[in-house]
Amino acid sequence: MRRRVLVGLCSLCFVGCVRPLRPSLVGPSAQPVLLPPQLFREGVPKNDAEWRAAGQEAATLLSQYIAINTTNPPGNELKAAHWLRSVLGREGIEAQVFEPAPGKANLFARVQGDGTRRPLIFLNHMDVVLASPEYWKVDPFGGVVKDGYMWGRGALDMKGEAIAQLMTLIILKRAGAPLKRDIIFLATSDEEIGAGVGAGWFVENHPDLIRDAEFLINEGGTIRADASGHIEYYGVGTTEKSPFWLDVTAQGTSGHGSRPTPDNPVHRLVRALNRIATWQTPLVVTPTVERYLHDLATIETDVARRAWLADVRAALKDSAAARALTADLTYNALLRNTISITGLKGSDKTNVIPPVASAALDVRLLPGQDPAAFLAELIRVVADSAVKITPQGPNWPATESPTDTELFRAIVAAAHARDPDAFVTTPPLTGFTDSHYFRRLGIVSYGVSPFPLNQAESRGVHGNDERVSLDALTFGVHFIYDVVSRVVAR
Ligand SMILES: [Zn+2]
Repeated sequence: MRRRVLVGLCSLCFVGCVRPLRPSLVGPSAQPVLLPPQLFREGVPKNDAEWRAAGQEAATLLSQYIAINTTNPPGNELKAAHWLRSVLGREGIEAQVFEPAPGKANLFARVQGDGTRRPLIFLNHMDVVLASPEYWKVDPFGGVVKDGYMWGRGALDMKGEAIAQLMTLIILKRAGAPLKRDIIFLATSDEEIGAGVGAGWFVENHPDLIRDAEFLINEGGTIRADASGHIEYYGVGTTEKSPFWLDVTAQGTSGHGSRPTPDNPVHRLVRALNRIATWQTPLVVTPTVERYLHDLATIETDVARRAWLADVRAALKDSAAARALTADLTYNALLRNTISITGLKGSDKTNVIPPVASAALDVRLLPGQDPAAFLAELIRVVADSAVKITPQGPNWPATESPTDTELFRAIVAAAHARDPDAFVTTPPLTGFTDSHYFRRLGIVSYGVSPFPLNQAESRGVHGNDERVSLDALTFGVHFIYDVVSRVVAR
């Protein structure tokens, strides 16, 4: 591990760095941690060269972070938490590591401001999804730099974003900037499995540590670039659909497959699923989706589509326009509650009729939708009282944060500082992040991505060859610093 880190560092001199790479040994935990060199020290970077040095330091940190394999399950986030604590400790920032289960961890650090304004939270998850090395061009846990990119699982989701947050904290701390708010850095477990002992556990068990916060920055935003790298828009995540996962179960008489039974539960289940699969859930235009599509109209090149997006309510009254719009998977998911049948269970043996058959439905509800009302409607569609439909677990209504805030204005200002014509919009997420735990406490929570990504680069999230360009990393460190310093600096 240590040797691999050193090799990774040598390959990182991508901006013509001539400083010797002198790693330092730091570590409050039992095992010393070999950290990369601090490439800038004096105050806030003032020019492009100094921001490139900050970006280079971010890259060396990200390389190490990617090399800590936190594939979930099992996650092993404790190792990542110890590493983060070492990085923060070297800067004089004390961090607490909570261990809710063996090998699992949530890290909490708080940099004090003068308390005249309420805190801002940087939220990031330490776990990553599985990577199958046979489909990758490089070792997904090598922290490899190649062709101007940092490659590896988590480079985008979300170790890269975490490092941009971390560097902002480090820059403010090294500069000794007077702060009007505390800044909280919260690195959590188990985001990728959607349950467990991560952000939800932290909010439930340590609400006092975060309850007073006003703002939170998390994953779930986008900076969309075209193939040439031109930024099309800055997307801030203010809302996301809520998952309402259901089990569908049919019971019947078991028997030998050679003697069909009239109430075979698999047949009954298949009939119910056919009704579910062919049910077109009603189209619903929420105010946020309407505003987002209206924004997108300004960059839509197709004349007909531009008109539909500009007035989606009118477009949906025209069946041809509605069909064309909902043929787009994203628009479709933004305009209705959706159902994907994802799991099926019948008999383990081909010649045995089982006594029970079941299916799993991944249902996603728009903001403002009542889960109980949706379930009642689904039961009406299935129209078979012998088929039971039950929620898999607790659910929550979709959450939304307002845009009339100091933090949102700071994001707009930082975007306009880079491009006076840039537009900032609020793409709703069809998936979900951990932000809902915090929105439910009344904390204004935004998905803010630091990295401009084109479509090909975005596919790395949960896909193969996940990578972030070193230019995007430098951009991201500067952008997050720019946003956050506007709301925390005195
Ligand atoms: Zn993520």
